[in-house]
Amino acid sequence: MPEDEFAAIRQRMVDTQIEARGIADPRVLAAMRRVPRHRFVPQGLWDQAYNDYPLPIGEDQTISQPYIVALMTEALELKESDRVLEIGTGSGYQAAVLAELAAEVYSIDRLASLAEQAQKVLGGLGYKNFQVRVGDGTLGWPEACPFDAILVTAGAPQVPRPLVDQLALNGRLVIPVGDRFSQTLTRIRQTNEGVKYDYLGGCRFVRLIGAHGWKAGGVDF
Ligand code: SAH
Repeated sequence: MPEDEFAAIRQRMVDTQIEARGIADPRVLAAMRRVPRHRFVPQGLWDQAYNDYPLPIGEDQTISQPYIVALMTEALELKESDRVLEIGTGSGYQAAVLAELAAEVYSIDRLASLAEQAQKVLGGLGYKNFQVRVGDGTLGWPEACPFDAILVTAGAPQVPRPLVDQLALNGRLVIPVGDRFSQTLTRIRQTNEGVKYDYLGGCRFVRLIGAHGWKAGGVDF
């Protein structure tokens, strides 16, 4: 399929799945109209890349449903000058959306094969304002903090303390918190009066595995 056909399908995706469901931030909508999501999934799945569901990206991991990417991105309230940390690089798609909206994106995945592939795709598309590293993202990225925004794209049993500590004043952390089967999308805001919480609805992510997440092993889904 030629690129302009993918672009047309992508515009329709944003109209029907994202804007129609209430995502209103014009910068988020514009970013999602620009980023070529198909390039972040295996080529055999390119024709499904704009459908309303997650897709497998190898290593038993998934690229999130487009609407969830939009919802989490909007919840971060990004400004152009912001420095953002993402835990769970996966395919790199969410990192690309963040790179469209913020000054600097730092992204961590525990699986080297995914981090390397994501880095290749992001670089190939011309993104320059990002860094990807392999490691346990529940520890954050202490050398690069504080962050204006932190996004966790895997489901956590609780909010990892190091991530809250690495937020700037007025910084926002968006993270799915719950059990293995369902989580609540949670926003934590660092304010002068302490940490504030908002709850943004239910979701279902693969597990966040690490020192402040789930233990490795056990049954995944
Ligand atoms: N944001 C991704 C989807 C992430 S899927 C995208 O746009 O495609 C969740 C990812 O979190 C997986 O790649 C998994 O390897 C990673 N992950 C799980 N626990 C992690 C941890 N402690 N640190 C870093 N990455 C982790």
